[in-house]
Amino acid sequence: MAKAPDSLEKIAGEVTGCPLCKLARTRKNAVPGEGQLAAKIMFVGEAPGRSEDDKGRPFVGAAGRILDEMLAKAGIQRSQVFITNVVKCRPPNNRVPEDDEVAACMPYLDRQMALIRPRIICILGRTAYSSLLGGSSITANRGKVIEKAGQKYFLTIHPAAAIYNKSMLSLLEADLKKLAKEVQKVEGGGASLEDFM
Ligand code: URA
Ligand code: SF4
Repeated sequence: MAKAPDSLEKIAGEVTGCPLCKLARTRKNAVPGEGQLAAKIMFVGEAPGRSEDDKGRPFVGAAGRILDEMLAKAGIQRSQVFITNVVKCRPPNNRVPEDDEVAACMPYLDRQMALIRPRIICILGRTAYSSLLGGSSITANRGKVIEKAGQKYFLTIHPAAAIYNKSMLSLLEADLKKLAKEVQKVEGGGASLEDFM
């Protein structure tokens, strides 16, 4: 029998009942992520926090309010994006996810990326940077575009870092405005070979 095609709904359903790492034992609600299949930008944060664990939705607490505000300032519509995290369940006391948890959860993110095929993936903070690209210093590399295996990535700081820090907030704002321009560039395209034929 042919295998049923994968879908965002199928992934969300699996995540909701996922037993694959120890975070399953302490979570209230798993947080698969949300947004459109046709999203042009995919945002990847670290892990759900308390508000996200309560609601089962990504970036709905203090960091989420910052992200929303910065998206609005950059003119990026919620309908253009998909928002998720490296791990889908909240680590106790919001500790950084451990390597075994990241490894266990990564297939879900891989499947989401394969389905959405975003123009660009926006890495939010160090955990996403190290998990997806093996990077370490996000502050030294923020604002950069990286290409890996045919996928473009944009690097910026985690919105939580900007909650009590105005200078971080300005950096995030500048970065997301730059991200919006990058997406347009990919979209509009430069001159292509066809233009000369
Ligand atoms: N921080 C994250 O990394 N992700 C969320 O969804 C919320 C806060
Ligand atoms: Fe499963 Fe990921 Fe949650 Fe671990 S964090 S239980 S791998 S969904």
